[in-house]
Amino acid sequence: MIQTYLDANASEPLRPAARAALLAALDVVGNPASVHAAGRAAHRLLEDARERLAACFGARPADVVFTSGGTEADALAIHALGRGRRLIVGATEHESVRAAAPGAAVLPVDGQGVADLAALPELLGEGPALVCLMAANNETGTIQPVAEAAALCRAAGALLHVDAVQAAGRLPLDLATLGADTLALSAHKLGGPKGAGALLATPEAAALLTPLMAGGGQERGRRGGTPALPAIAGFAAAAEAARDDADLAPLRDAAERAAAAAGARALGAGAPRLGNTTCLALPGVAALTQVMALDLAGVMVSAGAACSSGKVAKSHVLAAMGLGPLAGQAIRVSVPWNAREADVRRFADAYQAMAARVSRRAA
Ligand code: PLP
Repeated sequence: MIQTYLDANASEPLRPAARAALLAALDVVGNPASVHAAGRAAHRLLEDARERLAACFGARPADVVFTSGGTEADALAIHALGRGRRLIVGATEHESVRAAAPGAAVLPVDGQGVADLAALPELLGEGPALVCLMAANNETGTIQPVAEAAALCRAAGALLHVDAVQAAGRLPLDLATLGADTLALSAHKLGGPKGAGALLATPEAAALLTPLMAGGGQERGRRGGTPALPAIAGFAAAAEAARDDADLAPLRDAAERAAAAAGARALGAGAPRLGNTTCLALPGVAALTQVMALDLAGVMVSAGAACSSGKVAKSHVLAAMGLGPLAGQAIRVSVPWNAREADVRRFADAYQAMAARVSRRAA
C-alpha cells in the first residue's frame, strides 16, 4: 500500500540539503570547545550554522542559542525572562509553554482561535510581565497577531516570547520586525533533523538569558552541553531551503473541499492560517476513530496533540475555541513541504470512504 504522510506539523520530512549537511557534519570529529585543529573545524561549522540561521530570522548570530528542540527553547525563554515577571500565556499555546508557565494568566482566544488582544491590556496591568504568544498554532494553523501583541507589550513595558516552531519555514519571520523579544524554533518542524532547536533573542533579551543547564558554559554560558553539531548543521540548511518552498495552500484547500463534501467542517478556517494546515471535524465521529481508519487506508494524520504515550489527549486548543464536543471529533491534516497532488487525492478517497462507512453504521 502507498503510504501518504500528511502529519507535517508533528515532524516534516528531512530535506535533501539538511540530510547532506547532517551527513557531512557527522564526519567532523572535534568538539567545538576544543582548541586544536579538529575542535576549530567543529567550531567553524557551528558558527557557520549560527550565522545562517540568524540571517534567516533577522537575529544577530551572537543572540542565537542552540537547544535540543522547540520544547527546550520555550522552557529556556520562560525560565530566564519569566523570572520576577508575571506570566501571561495564550489559551492555545503548546504544552511546552504551558508546562513551563504553571499558574500563568491566560489570554483567551475567539472561536477561530485568534488571541483576543482587547483582553491583553487588563491582563498586563501594572508591573513587569512576560507574555507568551505563539506565531501559529500547531493544531489549527491559526496565525496570531504577534506584531500587534508586541506593540501592546512594549507600551506596557512587558516582554514577549513567541513560539515560532510551526510558523518557521512557513511564514516570513523576522525577529526585528516582529517586535518579539525571543523566538523559539525547532529543526524537525521545518524539514531539519530531530534533536536541534534554537532560541533567538534581541540583544536586550539575550543579555537577560540565564541557563537551564549551565554545564560547561557553552553557547556563551546560556546553554551548557556539547552542541548537537550534525543536527544543527542540518537545521541551518533546512531553514535556508524552506525559503524556496511552494505555496501548499492549494493542496490543503483541495483536501478541505474533499472532506467538506463528506460532511466535515474546517475549524478555525475563518482566521488567517498556515497554508499547510487544516483541522477537520466530522460531527459525531471520535477523532481517534478517524485517525485509525485513515491509517488503515495508508493515510497518516493526527488527532489533537499526540502525547509521548501515543495516546490522544483532548485538545485544549479546540476547547479554548469553544467548540464543545467537536473538540474531540477533529483531525489535523498538515501537508509536508514535499507533498504532491496525488497525496491529497489519496487522502480525499480515504476520507470519503471513511465518512461513508461511519454514516452507514450510524443509519
Ligand atoms: N511548540 C509548538 C507550537 C509545537 O508544535 C511543538 C511540537 O509539536 C513544540 C513547541 C515542541 O517542539 P519540539 O518537538 O522540537 O520539542
